[in-house]
Amino acid sequence: MRLGIISALYEEQLGLVEAMKGPAKLIHGKREYWAGKLWEIDAVCVLSRIGKVAAAMTATMLVEKFGVTHILFTGVAGAGDKTVQVGDIVVAEALVQHDMDASPLFPRFEVPLTGLTHFLPDQQLSLRLSRAAHDFLEQDLETAISEGERREFRLLQPRVHRGLVASGDQFMADPLRLNALNAALPGLVAVEMEGAAVAQVCYELDVPCAVIRTVSDNANEDAATDFMRFVQSVAAQYAVHITRRLCRDLAQAG
Ligand code: SAH
Repeated sequence: MRLGIISALYEEQLGLVEAMKGPAKLIHGKREYWAGKLWEIDAVCVLSRIGKVAAAMTATMLVEKFGVTHILFTGVAGAGDKTVQVGDIVVAEALVQHDMDASPLFPRFEVPLTGLTHFLPDQQLSLRLSRAAHDFLEQDLETAISEGERREFRLLQPRVHRGLVASGDQFMADPLRLNALNAALPGLVAVEMEGAAVAQVCYELDVPCAVIRTVSDNANEDAATDFMRFVQSVAAQYAVHITRRLCRDLAQAG
């Protein structure tokens, strides 16, 4: 297996590249691809930058140019439902492009000429990923993130949610818009800007993928507050530890 790991923000990716053994940097399409060993797994890490086009381009290159056989997206997201809290983890069970609307020609959310509104990540990889996330919260959280930071960001009892992730080219910071989206998309747990684009590319190229997000904000008017600090001090740690657990599990499974 060769695992492609996409992050949208530099801070999210940094720890992964640092953990890589013998990383080789390749520049293509204005992006740096880092190829090497991550906890015994052959991996390529890349920063997609933000948004659906950036993510789709990156996923395509990972498969077509770098020969990855599986893709993992790690990043942050806004909470898509009131039951989801900052510091929780979301593993996508399905992904939808919430700003896709070619109605009345096609049903709302349907990607025209695919007949699909929802794209499904690989079940087995997603299951391994949820397990890694659970184990991280149970076994690593206290040492990975200082007590002061856990208190500051109110990481009381972070949980793992499985559900629908909605992606669109918009930073969601309006509670009315979020409520409307939540009503239109049953099972919504997170909103972000890349996952469903990666899932569409992976569906079209027949490559298994999985998407994990640390919830950084409530997708309301406070969404931008301390966003970057959360990413640096919390989400980056989540990404490294969960990816380590996943890679070790994959290496063991052979
Ligand atoms: N304030 C940041 C912008 C980050 S954009 C900056 O100045 O750089 C948001 C990134 O985090 C995207 O990669 C997106 O996938 C995710 N994200 C987190 N919260 C989000 C929200 N409320 N709405 C949409 N995307 C969100």
